[in-house]
Amino acid sequence: MRIEVNKIKEEEIELVEDVDASNWDLSSFDVKFIGKIHFRCAFSRCGQEIIVNAEVASTREILCSRCLTQTQQTVKQDFKFFFNVNDLGAVLEVDSAIREELLLNFPMKVLCSSSCRGLCAGCNANLNIEKCKCKDKY
Ligand SMILES: [Zn+2]
Ligand SMILES: [Zn+2]
Repeated sequence: MRIEVNKIKEEEIELVEDVDASNWDLSSFDVKFIGKIHFRCAFSRCGQEIIVNAEVASTREILCSRCLTQTQQTVKQDFKFFFNVNDLGAVLEVDSAIREELLLNFPMKVLCSSSCRGLCAGCNANLNIEKCKCKDKY
């Protein structure tokens, strides 16, 4: 998302944009972003400072920490950025700042659902979809 710096005034301007996650090199660790990244940014200026309030919705393909099933999760996050107009050229581009925040703010533990029952430690059965087979062994 790009905006001409001199268009940013005290009053907020809101811009909305969708980008394909594949256009941003976002795959790192176990995180895979899929589909569209949707973002809405409100730009305003206060003296020499540009304030950007960003609301970003992204969908990640992740492994559930409890049952290890691949699952998709859409996360909405709010980020706030400050830029000094003296550090900027004529155009402010926020993509790289948002990309960095997305990678930094990845939750360490993700569950496919809050009620995920996980794997049985004995027989490894995925207790969301199958029954524990431990007692069949005896
Ligand atoms: Zn799970
Ligand atoms: Zn079991």
